[in-house]
Amino acid sequence: VLEIDSAKEKLNAELLAKQEKMKDSANVKAMQSFREKLPAFKVKAEFLKAIANNQVLVVSGETGCGKTTQLPQFILEEEISSLRGADCSIMCTQPRRISAISVAARISSERGEALGETVGYQIRLESKSSAETRLLFCTTGVLLRRLAQDPKLTGVSHLLVDEIHERGINEDFLLIILRDLIPRRPDLRVILMSATINADLFSKYFGNAPTLHIPGLTFPVAELFLEDVLEKTHYIIKSEFDNIQGNSRRRRKQQDSKKDHLTELFEDVDIDSHYRSYGRSTRESLEAWSGSLIDLGLVESTLEYICRHEGDGAILVFLTGWDDISKLLDKVKVNHLLGDQSRVLVLPLHGSMPTVNQREIFDRPPPGKRKIVLATNIAESSITIDDVVYVVDCGKAKETSYDALNKLACLLPSWISKASAHQRRGRAGRVQPGVCYKLYPRIVHDAMPQFQLPEILRTPLQELCLHIKSLQLGAIGSFLSKALQPPDHLAVQNAIELLKTIGALDDKEDLTPLGRHLCTLPVDPNIGKMLLMGSIFQCLTPALIIAAALAYRDPFVLPINKKEEADEAKRSFAGDSCSDHIALLKAFEGWKEAKRSGNERSFCWENYLSPVTLQMMDDMRMQFLNLLSDIGFVDKSKGPSAYNLYSNDLEMVCAILCAGLYPNVVQCKRRGKRTAFYTKEVGQVDIHPASVNAGIHQFPLPYLIYSEKVKTTSIFIRDSTNISDYALLLFGGNLVPSKSGEGIEMLDGYLHFSASKSVLELIRKLRGELDKLLNR
Ligand code: ADP
Ligand code: MG
Repeated sequence: VLEIDSAKEKLNAELLAKQEKMKDSANVKAMQSFREKLPAFKVKAEFLKAIANNQVLVVSGETGCGKTTQLPQFILEEEISSLRGADCSIMCTQPRRISAISVAARISSERGEALGETVGYQIRLESKSSAETRLLFCTTGVLLRRLAQDPKLTGVSHLLVDEIHERGINEDFLLIILRDLIPRRPDLRVILMSATINADLFSKYFGNAPTLHIPGLTFPVAELFLEDVLEKTHYIIKSEFDNIQGNSRRRRKQQDSKKDHLTELFEDVDIDSHYRSYGRSTRESLEAWSGSLIDLGLVESTLEYICRHEGDGAILVFLTGWDDISKLLDKVKVNHLLGDQSRVLVLPLHGSMPTVNQREIFDRPPPGKRKIVLATNIAESSITIDDVVYVVDCGKAKETSYDALNKLACLLPSWISKASAHQRRGRAGRVQPGVCYKLYPRIVHDAMPQFQLPEILRTPLQELCLHIKSLQLGAIGSFLSKALQPPDHLAVQNAIELLKTIGALDDKEDLTPLGRHLCTLPVDPNIGKMLLMGSIFQCLTPALIIAAALAYRDPFVLPINKKEEADEAKRSFAGDSCSDHIALLKAFEGWKEAKRSGNERSFCWENYLSPVTLQMMDDMRMQFLNLLSDIGFVDKSKGPSAYNLYSNDLEMVCAILCAGLYPNVVQCKRRGKRTAFYTKEVGQVDIHPASVNAGIHQFPLPYLIYSEKVKTTSIFIRDSTNISDYALLLFGGNLVPSKSGEGIEMLDGYLHFSASKSVLELIRKLRGELDKLLNR
């Protein structure tokens, strides 16, 4: 004991000595004076006192006030200074990977250390930490997985849960767990951090836990609604128009093009008819608008206006996703109205951007240049860019919603909430008074909901249900009823039913051994099952690659002007397989080959592939392999050939896809010259236009298996693969004797298979053996 004590004392002293030494460096000193100006600094003593006296504390404050970078650091400094450094282990969760990294890096540099020393991070597939690490940033998902191994979070002294106001599904889930854990871990301190939204809700949930508000320090931000923006841009164009003297041909031409531009602007917006519809009812008009995407022409005109007529300062544009960002990037690149191209620095900011150095986004641009950041709602609260003076807000964000009745996930840009609009506007007032250009009418703003619906109420729940079982949190229904806002009963039932269908839960809703395996794989349970089947049936490499693409993102990029060429490239990868999944696989293999021979760049360019996504897929593939080895489905010492006997057999690969993705099946039915597609739940669906199967009139095989069904303008199945009835018969669906007693029926009568009862018995036996392999 004495020995341990003295080792601890030594470590405590070392940590303190290092911290003190760094304080003398010029860089840390400069950072320190920046830190002292942040609003969080003023509440430091109050904050430390509050966590000393309370087990749970809710902290709220305007975005940028220093919650994320300062509060965990205050705890760290305090623990080290009072010689408790050896025993302290602070964890802070972030909803997004990108913020976990950027914050850990920022704090390390504020402390004058390298990343991974006292401060580190851990996200899926990536970690930078060491034995020395005392403050660890991680994604909420990483913490949840740790809870599965260690339900009491042994050794963690402080847990900070960040961005709880966003009401992500993982965060809401974590809060239920923490509320139960707190009485069993009296020494654990829990700090919940939120933007200035609804802090009371969280305090109440934790038995009226104390709250600490950090008063903001922001400048006023003027707000312009669509009507004002149009008038302003119109006014300027018009007044210039009037000012143009003389009537040389060139001038007149210029005038005409301006006029055209103006009419186009109004044509696109069709403001008149919108206003007319507002007259009816705001709800209806919101719905009328909800189908339309955002108007990039209007965004562009607004940028032109700011660049030409407003003072210096960075512009932050809120868009809905990568699609708009890349389209606008292309437009802006050729737009001379923004000024000489050397005068603007246009940067994208998106949650799934590669985890590269993001310095440019935070840094001041070089003198004479204007920084324009094109961002998704990630810039709304988790990332703060200080020098923003102008915000351009399209008013929408991509939001998932879940239609429990039709078992359908929808991903559509939809109007944000008033709370989000307020957040976005606030981003313009960090260093000086700013302006927020809202590209929607005031009346739309008035009709926006106060808050966004929490994610737990608008996503499929199967992964969450699996987590609940693996963490041994009791019956799914009663556990979820303890949530801040419990999800709909039907949504919970759907998730349980799906998990039973794929064999992850038994009839009593208990986890089967297969279910337990699926919990260890950080992917959707269907994709997890595909991985297991790939290892059992010796198709491992294709399963790993396709799973990586489905779990991460499609490596095919969508160029705006070259859509047809891109579709063609994808089709040529698919060959005659009638499969988007095979196209993915072949593209990946081609990339590997090209990389080996040094023409990665041209290969990706010619085939419309994202090298960054492919690289990420490659990394994920290795991670999945390690996980499969951990649970005993792969013995790495046997080498890859032991698991890839059938990897080049595309029929086998398609059968494995069927086994994994079941029950996502559509039946192809001939309707005259065309084929119609039916699913069990929603009836007729369409094939997504980006699929290699779009436009095929006759499929060789009677079914398609798909990875995702989405509702946008219609109900589409995204990536699909044509499969045979035999694959279904062996790997999916319920087998029941047909009414005549002779054949087999499956999928509620979709598949009729005429065979004797003995064949049915044989298939049952084969499936029984397969179940044993999956449940080993
Ligand atoms: P909050 O969590 O309250 O929104 P943060 O702690 O994230 O605030 O940020 C506090 C300040 O530190 C902000 O002014 C922000 O601009 C600055 N900051 C945070 N991260 C970085 C970074 N990686 N580089 C430069 N400045 C940063
Ligand atoms: Mg923050």
